Amino acid sequence: MVTASEIMDRVIKKNPGEAEFHQAVHEVLTSIVPVLDRNHRYAKARVFERIVEPERQIIFRVPWQDDNGEIWVNRGFRVEFNSAIGPYKGGLRFHPTVNLGIIKFLGFEQVFKNALTGLPMGGGKGGSDFNPKGKSDDEVMRFCQSFMTELSRHIGADTDVPAGDIGVGGREIGFMFGQYKRIKNVFEGVLTGKGLNWGGSLVRTEATGYGLIYFLEEMLHPKRKTIEGMTVVSSGSGNASIYAVEKCQQLGAKVVAMSDSNGYVHDPEGINLETVKQIKEVERGRIKEYLKSHPHATFHDDWRGIWSIKMDIALPNATQNEIDKEAAEVLVSNGVIAVAEGANMPSTPEAVQVFHDAGVLFGPAKAANAGGVAVSGLEMAQNSQRVSWPFEEADEKLKNIMSNIHRSASEAAEEYGCPGNLVAGANIAGFIKVADAMLDQGLV
Ligand code: NDP
Repeated sequence: MVTASEIMDRVIKKNPGEAEFHQAVHEVLTSIVPVLDRNHRYAKARVFERIVEPERQIIFRVPWQDDNGEIWVNRGFRVEFNSAIGPYKGGLRFHPTVNLGIIKFLGFEQVFKNALTGLPMGGGKGGSDFNPKGKSDDEVMRFCQSFMTELSRHIGADTDVPAGDIGVGGREIGFMFGQYKRIKNVFEGVLTGKGLNWGGSLVRTEATGYGLIYFLEEMLHPKRKTIEGMTVVSSGSGNASIYAVEKCQQLGAKVVAMSDSNGYVHDPEGINLETVKQIKEVERGRIKEYLKSHPHATFHDDWRGIWSIKMDIALPNATQNEIDKEAAEVLVSNGVIAVAEGANMPSTPEAVQVFHDAGVLFGPAKAANAGGVAVSGLEMAQNSQRVSWPFEEADEKLKNIMSNIHRSASEAAEEYGCPGNLVAGANIAGFIKVADAMLDQGLV
């Protein structure tokens, strides 16, 4: 039988230079060793070796013209990772740091996250090294149209259904949907995160952030705590962060800091979310502009410094590996009681270890931020039935899904001898669901 370390060595050798992908695979593999030991049929059928190899990887040229007539060439990606339990599903990221390794780590995580939601969705992820920051609406539209011209060959409502991620929000989804429809001559739910008057779902905009806080409440519940009255810090100031902060404030917590890639704003009186929404969602500006209307707040140009603030709850909602070992140690020494990951893989493995050793409640991204894709799954269901659920109904379904994810992760952790370890529990529960489907479907 091949050992876990042999599997890991092969993954590293076969996928050189893809550090984030190695990190994501290593975490899952470490968690599922007891599952492989107990159920030899998975090892015999080489399920893990198959799961780490994407079913399909598409890399393409995206040429586009800026407002001055100058031509630019970006690289587009779509990694269709696993379709054992449904059509590929996962977001598109537009950010200059995007490369194949980043998309593979995100796609790999997505496979297990989607399985945890209980909805029939496989895993995929895509994007481009295009930087939407500072571009005009027309430039973003031309880029999105060029990107979709190639992507449209590979996706479809029953094949692969992308959504947003960093740098891809309602504006970009709209431009891409329009181009898909023009090329294919079909109006179908090929993307999620659509506008409400053309097939979008209520609660999709809020889903990742609200879902994160519903999950956090589940984490606190066994300790007889709620977030009411707690001091919270949420990094980032995009979709995930804004709606996590909104739900925290609705539930009576005080959020004192948010950030972007230029730095963080600290407002000890409590962040005014309307100001942040105006800056980020309307003006597409920078977080430091918050000080113009709230001069008592302070701006710090080191975005990682946000974790040195004293807080009860940490919500990393910006990007991967934003909390390292040192930041985790500072958080622990300042008395943090819970960390819930809205961003994907925002804590390094060393940071997670620090939290576990200190008994800090830790909600891993795969489980805690699954609300976004869950409501995307609900959007797909509404599209295929040609119905539209009211806000309260979609929100209630989201709440139930987050509660079920917490329960499955907790039960799996318990069953495999690591009670309370939601990292292991989420990986095990997600893996078993996908692995069993793969076994049922033969050698695919
Ligand atoms: P947005 O583009 O809306 O916002 C991203 C935010 O994070 C911005 O404030 C951005 O700052 C900041 N950020 C991004 N990269 C960096 C970096 N390298 N250093 C510091 N700050 C950075 O994206 P989302 O809110 O959608 O995504 C945030 C995280 O949540 C990602 O990890 C994403 O994968 C995850 N996620 C999102 C889901 C969704 O439904 N939107 C679903 C599940 C997970 P700046 O503007 O300066 O770049």
